[in-house]
Amino acid sequence: MNKQSLSRRTVTMSLIATALSVVLGGFSAQAAALKVVATTSLVADLVQSIGGDRVAVTSLMGPGVDPHLYKPTAGDIIKLTRAEVIFYHGMALEGKMGDLFARLSRQGRSIHAITQNLPPEEWIVPEESPQHPDPHVWGDPRLWKTCALKVQQVLVQLDPEGKELYLAANQQYAQRLEEWMAWGKALMDRIEPSKRILITSHDAFNYFGRAFGLKVVGVQGISTASEAPLADIIHVVDLIREQSIPAIFVESSVSPAIIRRISEDAGVQVGGELFSDALGASGEKGSFESRSWDLGTYAGWLGHNVSTISQAMVPSNAP
Ligand SMILES: [Zn+2]
Repeated sequence: MNKQSLSRRTVTMSLIATALSVVLGGFSAQAAALKVVATTSLVADLVQSIGGDRVAVTSLMGPGVDPHLYKPTAGDIIKLTRAEVIFYHGMALEGKMGDLFARLSRQGRSIHAITQNLPPEEWIVPEESPQHPDPHVWGDPRLWKTCALKVQQVLVQLDPEGKELYLAANQQYAQRLEEWMAWGKALMDRIEPSKRILITSHDAFNYFGRAFGLKVVGVQGISTASEAPLADIIHVVDLIREQSIPAIFVESSVSPAIIRRISEDAGVQVGGELFSDALGASGEKGSFESRSWDLGTYAGWLGHNVSTISQAMVPSNAP
């Protein structure tokens, strides 16, 4: 054996050793963690926030994915059947996954809708479809607290040893939500009252609007599955002109075509892209005034949206 092949062999051996230690190290770190599969990035982030190191969370939908239209892949089914616990949003947000959830439940899987404990009096129910309450409850941090509590309860039940940690994490999370709520409300209050109208692609911001004092107009309705009728588009254009609305917004998980068209017809600027049904990319940072955030978290969802709206709607806040 010559020197070159020996050194190559040494390199190969050390690579194998490294790979083994990664696998074994990974295995020992993961062995204790509860294997969780979450449907949307928002649900995954919530479970991670409450579960900390005791959970290993996999999200089926990544940044920019529309949950109303998402169809589970063969790979998703494998992930779901291997999970120790499954969390989904519920309220028919995952519009194409209802049958799958029912089947998994019948099979005796541990599967939970995080919105299950929301009191019906908190629901926003559209007049045109009274059977389908609006699912976009994360827009209101106080309702998201109820969802966090549901996650905490399930985790305590499945992993009683982690009870103290889950309770403490939930308490801390609830407090942070209150702080974000107060910060966001103060920013929205800077918008001139007659212009507190949020116009976006689809009706994802009704709870957000109720929590932060904005009237909300979603051109496409509650689900992205339907297209906006022409009459609705004309109505929105008229509204923008009558109220001199300074900006309208596109969404990260919905096609911007209709909003761009309204922007041209009404002569109003597109004030930026809001996160509606999905979080942004994990690790990407944002900030405004005293607050900063990671776009892959709920704080990032709220911080980005509130600051984007504020900068477009309040002239003195513009960058
Ligand atoms: Zn939506």
